[in-house]
Amino acid sequence: MNGILNPNKLNMINKLVLGIDIGGTNSVFGLVDQNGKIHFQKTLKTSLYPTPEKLVNEIYNYLNKINGFKKIIGIGIGAPNGNFFTGSIEFAPNLKWDGKIPLAEMFKEKFKLNVILTNDANAAAIGEMIYGAAKDLDNFVIITLGTGLGSGVVNKRKLIYGHDGFAGEYGHIRVIKNGRLCGCGRKGCLEAYVSATGVTRSIYELDSKNKSKSKLKQIKNPSSKDVFNLAKKGDLFSIEIIDYTAKILGSSLAEFSCFNSPKAYILFGGIAQNGNIFAQKVKRYMEKNLLNIYKDKIEIRISQLHNRNAALLGSASLIWNNNN
Ligand SMILES: [Zn+2]
Repeated sequence: MNGILNPNKLNMINKLVLGIDIGGTNSVFGLVDQNGKIHFQKTLKTSLYPTPEKLVNEIYNYLNKINGFKKIIGIGIGAPNGNFFTGSIEFAPNLKWDGKIPLAEMFKEKFKLNVILTNDANAAAIGEMIYGAAKDLDNFVIITLGTGLGSGVVNKRKLIYGHDGFAGEYGHIRVIKNGRLCGCGRKGCLEAYVSATGVTRSIYELDSKNKSKSKLKQIKNPSSKDVFNLAKKGDLFSIEIIDYTAKILGSSLAEFSCFNSPKAYILFGGIAQNGNIFAQKVKRYMEKNLLNIYKDKIEIRISQLHNRNAALLGSASLIWNNNN
């Protein structure tokens, strides 16, 4: 889908949204119509842009070159530590840009268009609500499982932002007393266990306790992907790690349910795409730990947005959701 727009085909469409997903490794931008069809997308290496202005200019110049501006009605941006209220990225640990970056304002000035920015998990939640697994849900929480753990809380089809825009940071709720050191500087956060990096840490932590012969132990620098691949082949140590991870997530979700009584948790991202083995375990551990009044009422669903397009659709849907 990378490439030049077909002007003939584009003439048939009235409105498009420029969706932008800013990531620590890659940033993706693309043009999305109201039905969630992506008409064009391009990936940029975020680290190649030492300042955010350079990235804004690159996207502007690219769209100019392919004559892509005509039908754009707004810009939706999902970014790590993105603040919906201020339109800024605030102290994102995985980005090279330091401090507070007023990214929405930068795009607004350059493009002269309406811009909505929020954090990446919130964008995924809206994307899921409009195009994916949450179409039929009014109250749900999305849990994004990537390098870290993000979350977006939706109540009556609206995201919960709190007073300052940072509501719903489930990844940094401390679930293990005096547990692993987290990237935020505190100990025992959910993200330190339930994320790609958390799973990798579990390999080393559980290794000494597990005596079984495992293919995982023969891999140099094993990743969470290796764990899931080997678990599918019946590797007992890998299954144990998945079980350990699911137990921490499931029992945590049981506690979190007291906050907002969601109809479902939607698992999104790399780990969640590994089939039902993880989701089923999470469900089992959640049910086991739920307060009676919540039992058998909360679903665990897997994201329906194709991994490659999810972030882009989520970002673009910020504008579509606002226009409806
Ligand atoms: Zn933390």
